[in-house]
Amino acid sequence: MINVTKTYLPNKEKYKKYIDEIYENGWLTNNGPLVQRLEKRLAEYLGVKNIILVSNGTVALEIAYRTLDIKGFAITTPFSFVATTSSLVTNNILPIFADIDQNSFNLDPKNIEKLITPNTSAIVPVHVFGNACEVEEIEQIANKHNLKVIYDAAHAFDVQYKDKSLLNYGDISTLSFHSTKLFHSIEGGALIINDDKLVQKARYLINFGIKNAEEIPHLGTNAKMNEFEAAMGLCVLDDIEEIKAKRKTILETYQSKLKGLVQFQEKKEKATENYSYFPVVFKSEEELLKVQKALNEKQIFPRRYFYPSLDTLDYIEPKQECKISRDISKRILCLPIYAELEKDIQIQIVKIIKENI
Ligand SMILES: *Cc1c(COP(=O)(O)O)cnc(C)c1O
Repeated sequence: MINVTKTYLPNKEKYKKYIDEIYENGWLTNNGPLVQRLEKRLAEYLGVKNIILVSNGTVALEIAYRTLDIKGFAITTPFSFVATTSSLVTNNILPIFADIDQNSFNLDPKNIEKLITPNTSAIVPVHVFGNACEVEEIEQIANKHNLKVIYDAAHAFDVQYKDKSLLNYGDISTLSFHSTKLFHSIEGGALIINDDKLVQKARYLINFGIKNAEEIPHLGTNAKMNEFEAAMGLCVLDDIEEIKAKRKTILETYQSKLKGLVQFQEKKEKATENYSYFPVVFKSEEELLKVQKALNEKQIFPRRYFYPSLDTLDYIEPKQECKISRDISKRILCLPIYAELEKDIQIQIVKIIKENI
């Protein structure tokens, strides 16, 4: 069975050495030595100042909102994984959807300003499939209206924009290290915080709001990464360049063989690729369903990322409608891409697509 992705498993002996270390020191969680080591290595590798590791990417978003005291309304994109929106709703923040650009699939800054009201306190864009958002325009709008910006950067691990980490934009960026992501720690995530003054607060928030044995100044939660997860992260990080190189070859093969037949995502200039996803847009939902069915018959399972468009979620009131996001959602499919995807299977995928469009 071929899925949209396959979790990368590093060398087992190497992972076992870390497990031995954990057994020797008996430190399983609560900001242990491996979590600290992974934080240091990631800060260096990604080129960011402050990084805090947490238990997953969803809770990273929630901690970001709480660190910045986001209340009322947040303008966000309907074209994302559901956690971008659900994390807002669970924190009593109403998502206000701004439609996307039909070529980049990212929140279109043109649609933001008209949605701002006195209740708006934040913008929550997503670098969809690792494609850098219009970060400068978003920054301008945010500064003009005194809004915070939280980037859901779950797909944007190691993306550079104008030669520096994309994660340095916004007040906070969040990452997901779920097993299905480019870089993973089984489950996991991170916050990248630009203002040094907020780092300590976020660290309290991930540990129940506790400051010390006597003081609990914040309403916190439990969002800690454990040592077994950090060990996995350390192993995967050793291999990340090799993983990216293999994915690059796969992405380029798809691009050359499918050019002109399906719509590709338009990438932002001066930003690097991380080869995390390969989305293609078909002419119609009908065409997509036909291709999907043909692939499924050969045990190949691409994913309808992102479907449905989040402005159609039942639990969001008042009802909103983003036409472009709904349209792209119905026609987009993410093709299998991962380090060990075999060439002949990729050729078969391309052939099946060509036969069904
Ligand atoms: C995966 C993902 C998340 C959630 O991350 P988890 O680590 O699975 O909680 C949030 N936003 C986006 C865009 C994602 O792709």
